[in-house]
Amino acid sequence: MERALIIIKPDAVQRGLIGPILTRLEQRGLKFVGLKLIQVDEALARRHYAEHEGKAFFESLVSYITSAPVVVAVVAGKPGTVEMIRTLVGATNPAKAAPGTIRGDFGIDIGRNLIHASDSPESGERETAIFFKPEELIADWSRAVDPWVQE
Ligand code: UDP
Ligand code: MG
Repeated sequence: MERALIIIKPDAVQRGLIGPILTRLEQRGLKFVGLKLIQVDEALARRHYAEHEGKAFFESLVSYITSAPVVVAVVAGKPGTVEMIRTLVGATNPAKAAPGTIRGDFGIDIGRNLIHASDSPESGERETAIFFKPEELIADWSRAVDPWVQE
């Protein structure tokens, strides 16, 4: 199993896009194992985005992600799920993201790109542990539709 952390970023929450973005993931057949609305504080933002510390956009990224509530979710699935979600999300810069992707359909600016998704299964594990306590995740629930989504 792989897990990806998803963040519906402040701009998407403010724009009323929680539902449409969750729907994109849900209608694909992906399964949520964690979901909540939170306010990210500065320490959490710096920890989550540690790999970008020192880059030109880092401070504005921390301000952006802490500026208003976000929705965080964990999606779990078979190997390849994390890469599939990244494809669904689209390129980092919405101006260059393909139509049909979340960023390509809803955004125009790299500093307001609506959604975070883990970039590897390893990142998925690290980021899930940052945002969720084990007891907040429901790891092994089954859906009646599961056999109709996956053979
Ligand atoms: N970002 C930005 N300007 C840049 C590059 C990145 O504002 O030139 C922000 C943007 O919100 C992006 C986040 O920093 O989503 C993390 O960057 P990364 O390269 O990891 O992109 P992602 O994995 O989100 O596609
Ligand atoms: Mg990234």
